[in-house]
Amino acid sequence: MLPSFFDSVLQLIVRTSTDLPPDVRAAMRHARGSEAEGTRAAQALAIIALNIDLAVDNEGAICQDTGMPTFEVHVPVGADQIWMRAQIREAVAQATRRGKLRPNSVDSITGQNSGDNLGPGTPIIHFDQWTRDDIEIKLILKGGGCENTNAQYALPVELPHLGRADRTLEGVRKCILHAVWNAQGKGCSPGAVGVSVGGDRTSGYVHAKEQLFRTLDDVNTDERLRDLEASIMSTVNALEIGPMGFGGKVTLIGCKIGALNRLPASFFVSVAYDCWAFRRLGVTLDATTGAINSWLYRDPSHPIIPMIDQAGFARTGREVALHAPLTEDAVRALKVGDVVLVSGRMFTGRDAVHSYLMKHEPPVDLRGSALYHCGPVVVKEESGWRVTAAGPTTSIREEPYQGEIIKRYGVRAVIGKGGMGAKTLAALKEHGAVYLNAIGGAAQFYARSIKRVDDVSLLEFGTPEAMWHLMVEDFPAIVTMDAHGNSLHKDIEQESGAHLAAIGG
Ligand code: SF4
Repeated sequence: MLPSFFDSVLQLIVRTSTDLPPDVRAAMRHARGSEAEGTRAAQALAIIALNIDLAVDNEGAICQDTGMPTFEVHVPVGADQIWMRAQIREAVAQATRRGKLRPNSVDSITGQNSGDNLGPGTPIIHFDQWTRDDIEIKLILKGGGCENTNAQYALPVELPHLGRADRTLEGVRKCILHAVWNAQGKGCSPGAVGVSVGGDRTSGYVHAKEQLFRTLDDVNTDERLRDLEASIMSTVNALEIGPMGFGGKVTLIGCKIGALNRLPASFFVSVAYDCWAFRRLGVTLDATTGAINSWLYRDPSHPIIPMIDQAGFARTGREVALHAPLTEDAVRALKVGDVVLVSGRMFTGRDAVHSYLMKHEPPVDLRGSALYHCGPVVVKEESGWRVTAAGPTTSIREEPYQGEIIKRYGVRAVIGKGGMGAKTLAALKEHGAVYLNAIGGAAQFYARSIKRVDDVSLLEFGTPEAMWHLMVEDFPAIVTMDAHGNSLHKDIEQESGAHLAAIGG
């Protein structure tokens, strides 16, 4: 067999999880230059840039959600695909044990986490034969926040703010704009979209994801699609959704469109959204040894250019220091737009914890607490647990529960990304609490605010879903929903809806 194959795949996984490809870095550098200094958008991008640097310097996961590993493998005729599949699966398990991938494979019926990223359907591995005599493996790690925002349209369709999308390229354009607008608060922007026109429902989604393997700066060989890509990129940022949905100049860093033939009766437009943590790399391997011949998307002989040239997150002096447990007076004094630095005890809780708290008493006293929507990457060491990646997860998933949990248990601050809905906003006002938006995907940055892990509850839900008891220091976040009924997310959604009508209708 190929003696180096396993190590090569492991290297590919680790590098993909920890080092953004140069084309994405360049796009994010350009985004930084586009936002005015001192704005929320600029602050968010500064944290993201620092996070990108920390991840590669420390070989840590760029985002704690290391997503669904998807491998596209090309092999020469006669290659043993059964053996290779087994090796790739074992490399995924090994990368998980090393904390480079978060255990993300969950039994869909029981909710049980397999713990090693292996299970029916995970990871995704597609094989194709080709006439070349080497092996090519491409990998994309696409997280749940952006996967949940993927969209498929069956044309003709009526779209909010845009009117009817017909079976034309103009109709396709409307669908793409709608998908980007609709992704706000879910996938961490600025993001990129892969789009497929045509196919059937299944092949359309696969083909849309395949577009994400194109570099952001490539040029479509189909003139019609090239013009459509250019048209989207020249208008979409007028939506002013901005980084993290805070408002701003940059909403999208790439749009890649492909087309498949379709049935006469069907016209699907499938959109795969990827966030700024656009983790995609590849390798070519010697087919006799499995050793890496070359890297795709990156040139190891070129030094990695740091994203940021300063020591850390630049403070303005206007930040508000908060110490948990929090008082009602402290949170009622906050207003949308305030930047806070949280210190003290913080508890994590996401889908499984919220569902549990609706039926059971909490395992800890949550009065005055800061509840962090986060599924961290955690490793067990001799001295105890250590968090290696800990950015926020998409909060809107907890909307059905959050208001009730604030009311019942006295939570004073909910921390996550993307904001929450009307029920939570009403509960914040009635019971005296705030929603704090942390910067999505900034897993390395936030891991450094966590000074220690004091304990863990509900570990039976798996490490991403357990309730971790963290001691944090100067954890930065922005008040985006306050106790006075204000929501930045609601405002941006309305304003960007008006922009959508103006540019796309
Ligand atoms: S950056 Fe945001 S959307 Fe992307 S994987 Fe991380 S949490 Fe999910």
